[in-house]
Amino acid sequence: MKVKHLLSIIGFSLSLFLLFGCTSSTETDVSITTTIFPLYDFTKQITQDKLKVKMILPPGNEPHTYQLKPKDILTIRNSKMFIYTGPFLEVWADKLIDVLDEDEVLVLNVSHNLELHHEDEEEEHDHDVDPHIWVDPILAMTIIDNILEYIIQIDPENASFYRENAEKYKEELSKLDLAYQDLFSKVEHKTIIFGGHFVFGYLAERYGILHVSPYKGFSPDTLPTTRNLHNLINLIQTTGNKTIFYEEMINPEVAEVLAQETGAKLLPLNGAGYISKKDFDEGVTYLDLMYQNIENLKKGLNYHE
Ligand SMILES: [Zn+2]
Repeated sequence: MKVKHLLSIIGFSLSLFLLFGCTSSTETDVSITTTIFPLYDFTKQITQDKLKVKMILPPGNEPHTYQLKPKDILTIRNSKMFIYTGPFLEVWADKLIDVLDEDEVLVLNVSHNLELHHEDEEEEHDHDVDPHIWVDPILAMTIIDNILEYIIQIDPENASFYRENAEKYKEELSKLDLAYQDLFSKVEHKTIIFGGHFVFGYLAERYGILHVSPYKGFSPDTLPTTRNLHNLINLIQTTGNKTIFYEEMINPEVAEVLAQETGAKLLPLNGAGYISKKDFDEGVTYLDLMYQNIENLKKGLNYHE
């Protein structure tokens, strides 16, 4: 039963020997497996070097469309704890959890106690829920609390060390919150015109600004709609808000077309849901990415002291 289930997840057959017989080819010393970059970074901030933390999504990959690999399942099964965003980003998570041994792997859905945004309040289809919770520093604090609570369960001996690190990091998130408050209270334009997919909804709501994207829904795996593109062009032409922010790793050409059409300038904005190989290798953190964003938002939205 278990085997059948597992095979249906990964979509192709995999030798039972590899799955259950031998784990020597995989990392057996992983303590915590996380799915995406912000969860990886948050977890590392709490554990420092006490526990080994692994990220499933390889740097340079996009999370919405990532297909879980057999080796990922092995890594997760061999870890003490598995941390994911929730069923709206890692759509494969529910099936995976079904085949995990609860006594072996502690599972944390970090959004379990957060109120998530729906595109349409009437319909609650999976793909209509915004999973990008980490872009809001206040929600990030709750994510930190959730991760801390679970880490203490797998390593109670070092609880005070983890608590202290979590507190320090929440102070950093609190400073980030103040930086965003300052930014959005002093910019001329209160709309983030984004050529990428809809990533900054929680940030926009937190600070009372608008966020527009030509994509329908919350995932980049669809094409932007013509109507949305027209609306964006109109918005740029009528408001004088002449900066289009773009995602470096997903379809920057959409933003480029918009810029050509309107004469707007382009600036990058990083959703931090995925990280480039270069940034990852250089040890760039979530906070680094957020402060880079603040600098670009200051330029693009006309910040005045
Ligand atoms: Zn996304």
